[in-house]
Amino acid sequence: MQAWDAGHRVTDVTPHELIGILPVADSLHTRYMAASDTWRAHRKGCEPCQTKQRCETGAPLLQRFVRLQDAYLTHLRNRP
Ligand SMILES: [Zn+2]
Repeated sequence: MQAWDAGHRVTDVTPHELIGILPVADSLHTRYMAASDTWRAHRKGCEPCQTKQRCETGAPLLQRFVRLQDAYLTHLRNRP
């Protein structure tokens, strides 16, 4: 998981996860939770981000969180 993130855009879901070769739940959920924590921790101490004016640091953090949340929820919906 960490190794994959190191070599790819952090917002991406691995192709292998998308086509179901790898088990998704653990790694995707872990990344989703980590992104959520990171974003919330930043927003807590960042006034612009609390007022919907994302700062340069906060914008990608939020984007990553949203993307991972979408991917995770999609995964749950598509679960057999
Ligand atoms: Zn911010």
